[in-house]
Amino acid sequence: MTKKGRVFSGARPTGRQHLGNYLGAIKNYVALQADYDCVYCIVDLHALTTVEDTVNLKQNIFEMALDWLAAGIDPQKSIMFVQSMVPEVTELHTILSMVTPLGKLTDLPTFKEKARENPNNINYGLVGYPVLMAADIVLYKSNAVPVGVDQAPHLEFTREVVRSFNYRYNCNVLIEPQMKVTEVPKVLGIDGVQKMGKSLDNHIEIAGTPEETQKRVMMMVTDPARIKRTDPGNPDVCNVFSMHKIFSPKADVEMINIECRRAGIGCVDCKKLYAKSLNESLASFRAKRAEFADKPAEVWAILHDGAQRAKVIAAQTMREVRDAIGLPNLGE
Ligand code: ADP
Repeated sequence: MTKKGRVFSGARPTGRQHLGNYLGAIKNYVALQADYDCVYCIVDLHALTTVEDTVNLKQNIFEMALDWLAAGIDPQKSIMFVQSMVPEVTELHTILSMVTPLGKLTDLPTFKEKARENPNNINYGLVGYPVLMAADIVLYKSNAVPVGVDQAPHLEFTREVVRSFNYRYNCNVLIEPQMKVTEVPKVLGIDGVQKMGKSLDNHIEIAGTPEETQKRVMMMVTDPARIKRTDPGNPDVCNVFSMHKIFSPKADVEMINIECRRAGIGCVDCKKLYAKSLNESLASFRAKRAEFADKPAEVWAILHDGAQRAKVIAAQTMREVRDAIGLPNLGE
């Protein structure tokens, strides 16, 4: 079967992944393998923009690779690799930075947010973060990029950079990518208000033990208007119910939808039920993850092999980019 094109996505090596990463991105990475050539990248260079202590970097890369593999990224079908192992991206980053107005980068809401979070480390790389991301995407000639909605400004920026480059060098070497979101593009944290994320410590790890998972689930905020056990609740505004709809059997979802509204079931029991469904849904993922975790050499070999395959595509694109600009290629 001919594939519809190429998909690329990357994520910083933040270690064990949470339900937001899983529902917002990884599930799509896995599903898209059926129809696209997929390239999935652990973007360690991007991590350096904010991470100063790199002692755990390799371990975090490994943990993330375990989550991706156990979730169903198939290294036979897809390329999975570590960004810094294919340094062509840094060359393209430099080249794209010459067609990027500085004001465009400092105006991005994502930059402003990162600058607010890291007031003592607003480095040059942090400003250029979206340029490096654009370089990642276009280096692999990607048609589609599966990401959560938070990445929309970066995708739009990438499309603009592609147009600027092609216009400046009068070519059509670079491809404008489309954004692909899942059915759950924004997962809320256990606070039920903000986006789930590690920095807010409102996350639930997909690789946690059943006990850890249950403990985090029991901390989840439900319908804020429901104060007493005898108050009727409103599942339509409850984050726990929205998760039941994803992970629980249909009969449980229907039962909660009725019983919550007439105070037939309390939030504690409802959360216990969700923890059970979540743990059951993640059981086979966790078993596979444990198998991969026992074979670190194999996991690193997958990442090395992925980098070799990625390098072939990257080298070809860079030849075209250099030709379009008029830079001499080695050996010509
Ligand atoms: P990065 O900063 O490298 O994108 P993140 O861990 O923030 O790393 O995100 C990795 C991927 O998971 C991205 O595609 C992002 O959009 C998605 N994602 C992260 N958190 C959530 C969330 N709470 N809901 C939906 N998608 C999310």
